[in-house]
This record gives sequence, C-alpha cells and structure tokens, in this order.
Amino acid sequence: MTAPTDPKLAAIRDKVHAGERLTFDDGLALEATSDLFTLGELANLVRERKNGSVTFYNVNTHLNPTNVCVYRCAFCSFRSDLKGPTGYVMTDEQILGRAREATERGCTELHVVGGLHHQLPYEWYLNIIASIHREFPDLHLKAWTAVEWDWFEKLTKRSTRDLLAEMRDAGLGSLPGGGAEIFHPEVRSKICDYKADADQWLGVHRTWHELGGKSNATMLYGHIERPEHRIDHLLRLRGLQDETGGFQTFIPLAFHPSNNPLGKGIPKPSGMMDLKVMAVSRLMLDNFPHIKAYWQMLTAKVAQVAQSWGADDIDGTVVHEKIYHAAGSDSPQEMTVADLRRLIEEAGRVPVERDTLYREVVRDQPVGKRWQTGRRLVTLN
Ligand code: SF4
Repeated sequence: MTAPTDPKLAAIRDKVHAGERLTFDDGLALEATSDLFTLGELANLVRERKNGSVTFYNVNTHLNPTNVCVYRCAFCSFRSDLKGPTGYVMTDEQILGRAREATERGCTELHVVGGLHHQLPYEWYLNIIASIHREFPDLHLKAWTAVEWDWFEKLTKRSTRDLLAEMRDAGLGSLPGGGAEIFHPEVRSKICDYKADADQWLGVHRTWHELGGKSNATMLYGHIERPEHRIDHLLRLRGLQDETGGFQTFIPLAFHPSNNPLGKGIPKPSGMMDLKVMAVSRLMLDNFPHIKAYWQMLTAKVAQVAQSWGADDIDGTVVHEKIYHAAGSDSPQEMTVADLRRLIEEAGRVPVERDTLYREVVRDQPVGKRWQTGRRLVTLN
C-alpha cells in the first residue's frame, strides 16, 4: 500500500500503525479526506488487531411494544400521537406471542424498544420484561434505550440506578445503544429537543455499567450534523468507555429521510459517507471491542463491504423491524442465517454466531431446533 500524499493523513497512518490514540483534530482530518482506501486500510488494521478475520452475527428478533410517544423527534418516522391513526399498543398476549415466536425460531436475543406512551406507567414496561423472562428465561432481553430509562425516572421519580437494578432482577439482560443520535447541543436541540440530553444518555449507561451490565452505543449520521459533531460524539463515548469499559459495540446509524420532518430536502447518506463514518468510528473508538455494520440501515450490500472498513459485526436475522422501515429503509425485514453467512464469507471473513454478550453460539442442529449457547445446552419445542 502506498503512503497517502496528504501529510495529515500520513501522520495519522503512523499513529495508527504505532497503536497511538487519535485526537479530535485527527478525527477532523479523517473526516476531510476523500482517500477512502487509506481510511479502509487503517480501519481494517485496527479491526483485524481486535477481531482478526471474524465477523459476528446473531439470531435475533425485534419487539416494539408501542409506537405511541410523547416526544416528536424530527427524524422519527415511527412514532404516533396518542390518538393517531397508526398508533398501537401490543397486548400482553401479542408480546408473549412475539417472544414465543423468537424462541421457536432459535433466537438468542429479543431487542425491545418503543415509544414513551403518554398514559402507560413504568410498571407496564417492567411487566414486559418480567413476563417474557418468566416464560422464556433463555432469551436475552436487550431492552429500553437510555431515553426510555430517563422517561421511567421522570414517571416514577425514582433513581435510574434503582430502576435498572429492579428491571435487571426481573430479567433485563443488557441495554441497546439507541437514543444517542448526535450528542452535541447545536444539533440535538434541533432534532430531538426535550428528550434525554448527552449527559443524561451517558449517565444511564454509566450507571448500568457500574451495576456490572453491558450496553451498546449508536450515532445517527447523515442529516444536519457536521463532521465536528460526529467526532465530538465519538470522543464523548470514548471518554465513558475509558471510565467503565461497559460498552461492547458501536453502531453508526445512517439517517433515512422518508416520512419525517427532518428529511425534507436531505438525501440518504451515500455509500462513500457510510464507509467513511464506519472507518472513522473504528479509528476513533480505540477502546470499543466491536463496530457493527447494521445491514437494516446500510443495506446488505454496504454492510458486506463495510467488513473491510472497520466493521466486525453485521447484526442479525432481525425480523419485525419497524423503526427504519417506517423511515424508508428498503432492506428486507428479515435475513436468514444462510444469507448472513454468505455476506460474511463472500467478504473473505469467518462467520461466527454470537449471543448478545459475544459468546460464541454453537448449534448442534439447524436454527430453530436444538442448540447450544456458551456452555448451556438448550432444548426448544
Ligand atoms: S425517536 Fe424515540 S423518543 Fe423520539 S419520537 Fe421517535 S419513538 Fe419517540
């Protein structure tokens, strides 16, 4: 590989090869370059240092128990007003039915997020976790974004620590990374004023990590934010990870402009931008073990290529994805394990099924029958 002609990029290349931490200005220089191949070379170096040639995937399903939400984030195509024509609240039977379906399909994880309903109490959200866990104790429940936890605190006037501990005892497995959007107040005040701010978002994750839990982090890019806002976002996450070490995965989320007020006049992020953000994230987040190319947001094609631009995870089978499809995602709702493995193998990587906590899942029969997770052998119906 020839050295880059841009002296700033050449200096960054030396730092990455030496394993040195990159600065805010380094991040801006990475954002400014159009030398996509050097970005890929450097991000791939870090990716292979951390995860070799493995790309992870999982067998999972989504559950969005309600789309009714008190907030009106400008980028959101999922939410509904309390009496809006598209508003819904799933019944207990529907919720347990979704968990049963997930278990029968061999899922190891249920990803549970939704709206902040005007009238439903915290106990409704708690009961979702408790009732699923009672019936399906082997299903890992990755539930409620930091924005939802902040809402629970407002509803109950109890501390987030207390609520997190209570829900953990009821069956909560880990926290998803949603709700982070862009932390910088110049942007956050325009796209999601009112909901949890950066310090509140980070505070929820800090508390969960202090309780011994693991979580993920995200960034919504490709709308009105500028490169300095993205680098600021990454460095705030890196700072918390230095403190706690509780983050597992960072997931850059490409903005989808359909059916939301923010999207008017804004095109979808290009493939160039998707790969650049992926690579810059891998390089700046030197203390995050994993970077995910979430195929639902990026398309399967970009997620496949992103495995050479820093990503070591492409998420899972998903099923029942509502949030990004409402915003115009034209990815399929679901991917089979064979599809995921093909995407990985064609990219020259080694597919490894993981559970939510990145333990390898070893199945002794095809998905949906009988399988092993870590050291536990689980028999399904
Ligand atoms: S992004 Fe979440 S908090 Fe914001 S309006 Fe949509 S559902 Fe509500």
